[in-house]
Amino acid sequence: MSVTSTSLFRFDDSFVRELPELSMPWKGAGAADPTLLVLNEALALELGADPAALRAPDGLDVLVGRVAPEGTTPVAMGYAGHQFGGFSPRLGDGRALLVGEIVDPAGVRHDLHLKGSGRTPFARGGDGRAAVGPMLREHLVSEAMHALGIPTTRSLAVVATGEQVQRETVLPGAVLARVAASHLRVGTFQYASRLEDRSILRRLIDHAVTRHHPHAAEAENPALALFEAVVEAQAALVAQWMLVGFVHGVMNTDNVAISGETIDYGPCAFMDAHDPGTVFSSIDEGARYAYGNQPHIAQWNLARLAEALLPAVDDDQPTAISGLTRVLETFPVRYAEHWSRGMRAKVGLQGAPGDDALLDDLLTLMYEQGADHTAFLRSLAAAVRGDDTASRSLLTDPAAFDAWATRWRADLAAEGRDPAAVADGMDAVNPVYVPRNHLVEEALAAATVGDLGPFGRLLDVLARPFEARSGLEAYALPAPSGFGPGYRTFCGT
Ligand code: AMP
Ligand code: MG
Repeated sequence: MSVTSTSLFRFDDSFVRELPELSMPWKGAGAADPTLLVLNEALALELGADPAALRAPDGLDVLVGRVAPEGTTPVAMGYAGHQFGGFSPRLGDGRALLVGEIVDPAGVRHDLHLKGSGRTPFARGGDGRAAVGPMLREHLVSEAMHALGIPTTRSLAVVATGEQVQRETVLPGAVLARVAASHLRVGTFQYASRLEDRSILRRLIDHAVTRHHPHAAEAENPALALFEAVVEAQAALVAQWMLVGFVHGVMNTDNVAISGETIDYGPCAFMDAHDPGTVFSSIDEGARYAYGNQPHIAQWNLARLAEALLPAVDDDQPTAISGLTRVLETFPVRYAEHWSRGMRAKVGLQGAPGDDALLDDLLTLMYEQGADHTAFLRSLAAAVRGDDTASRSLLTDPAAFDAWATRWRADLAAEGRDPAAVADGMDAVNPVYVPRNHLVEEALAAATVGDLGPFGRLLDVLARPFEARSGLEAYALPAPSGFGPGYRTFCGT
């Protein structure tokens, strides 16, 4: 790999220096005919780069992994993972590269990582490639998540390679350039924990603490404190997913970031009608990663992290187990607190979480009445402003709303806040626009045959999700009938 003198970003490579055992130096395959499909200019500027330099041929070389920028040592990262419950000791970046760590103008460190940049020593049977559609999908959904205020990796750019990728059909290839707080996953700890050299797990813990949870360094037991910080970050994250109706789709332990960011957008989707059983992924046959199962699975994944951390928590195994178990058992309470606070804000209540019956009953009502998750929650602000037509119209039996609303209004009245302020507060937390499946599919289908118009328009709409804008009504509507039930997303990414 050649080195460019173009200084797009300020780079560092602390992960590779401190943990050389956890990755392999590697290079990208490059692209026959690179074409920039989308560049996140705002993110580039935040990271201290000149968007024009990224658009230039030297910039594209970096974005597809053909050239290693100065100060970087690109690697394929090693990690293990439980996939659908079964353990794979050696997964790793099969088609990805960690280019380096961008140090932004504020001194904050971000991984720059490429997906679809060619086969690596971890590729197993895979071709190392990615297709345009799924990479644009990650760009769109991760940027939508960011605009919703949910911790997530970001997408800096998607570059078409000019090459073809064989999936169920032949598709145009692409590389996604992704930015993340880091790519340390639960699976990274599972991988390190199985290596003979015990110092590696210790160094990984130190690295993760310094990077993501620095307060844990001051704790009596930093490994245990790191675990607690990750439990808290995951409880907060999954609560936010649940509040917006997001289904990750493939919550394997290699797809759980220690930083608490949403990572690895594959068969993810937002639900239309509220239903805890919602599954989109075509390969999730047992509904393991159904919408309503996500908090439970998050805790299961954290138990796998606890097992990996065990040798570093205490030399005495029973002591280590009891310490980690005590922390793990706090997950349900932490999750419930985050969810309850978020859900109360969505219905305009401010008081301390106590009895969640009103909230639980609302979800039951939404489920039984086939309510569109996003549209219905958004409609409640209009009900506070005195018009419950929209809320009622989104239910199969409008009268079912009235009994619940009577209890809700009593709680709102007891808090005694100005209804206009309550409704405005609700609008700030209930999005109008989420990446609805039918819109995403339409945009990706057009992009795959060369028309980026619908993709660009959808991206713009999703950048301001809480602000209803005239002319964009169609973006707020549920899928046309026939599209919703049975909709599947595919992992053939
Ligand atoms: P994912 O489901 O995207 O989280 O990927 C799971 C594992 O499969 C990771 O180790 C990926 O690097 C690997 N993988 C997925 N697709 C490919 C591909 N086309 N070529 C090589 N490795 C792949
Ligand atoms: Mg993954």
